[in-house]
Amino acid sequence: MASQLKAILFDFDDTLIDWSGVTLGWRKLEAKRLSRVLSFINARSKHDLTDLDSLVDTYTERTREAWAAARVNLRAPVMPEILLSTLTDMGVPEAASCLDEVLSAYDWSVVPGTVVYPDVPPALELLCNNGIRLGIVTNASLPMWMRDNELRAHGLIDYFSDCRLSAADVGYLKPQSRIFRCALEKMGTLAEETVFVGDNPIADVAGAQAVGMPAVRRLNPGASDNRHLAKPHAIVTSLAELPSLLDNWYPDWRQNGK
Ligand SMILES: [Mg+2]
Repeated sequence: MASQLKAILFDFDDTLIDWSGVTLGWRKLEAKRLSRVLSFINARSKHDLTDLDSLVDTYTERTREAWAAARVNLRAPVMPEILLSTLTDMGVPEAASCLDEVLSAYDWSVVPGTVVYPDVPPALELLCNNGIRLGIVTNASLPMWMRDNELRAHGLIDYFSDCRLSAADVGYLKPQSRIFRCALEKMGTLAEETVFVGDNPIADVAGAQAVGMPAVRRLNPGASDNRHLAKPHAIVTSLAELPSLLDNWYPDWRQNGK
């Protein structure tokens, strides 16, 4: 390990936010969001679009196709582009001229049932208090400004003022190295001074290690450690384990004393 720890980058979903309690079906949630989009378009453009099911089906199918292609080429799916092409093909080409308003109507917010892992806020607080810069790198198809709604609602956004990156904004998904390099550039730190923490062995662990970052795997209940896929520098089941891990790797990281 390098002698100094300057920053920690975190994956978002299932690393900071626990999705295991989500019970409402995704289609139902998508229908709620897209019904607001339909209402906005009908009001703004004097359309009379009523076929919500068809909008949900087409948008969901295109999203599924985009993710299937992305798994092969690691180019990030971009949710606003998918929604826009769906609307254009449904006879609403003018959606392009008011995309921001369409996305406001879509109104992405905290998904019911998601919560911050209880071990996250104390760990972030301790790291911040010791001068460690924190960032988020997420494989989301939503632009970060939309996912910021969740960070705000969960009370986490102030911890991540230096770097919040969504794959949709960078164009590439983890484990592609560009998204990690982009994050390091934003942080202004070298790979060896920056630890990555995430739950996915390939996207997070192998991706971060490929650019020279030490990687910590968050192993959640029921997940396999998948050591054959990637060997993290350490495995934790709670971020409460992170500080003592850092004590071993970077003995001087606690600027404010123990
Ligand atoms: Mg994750």
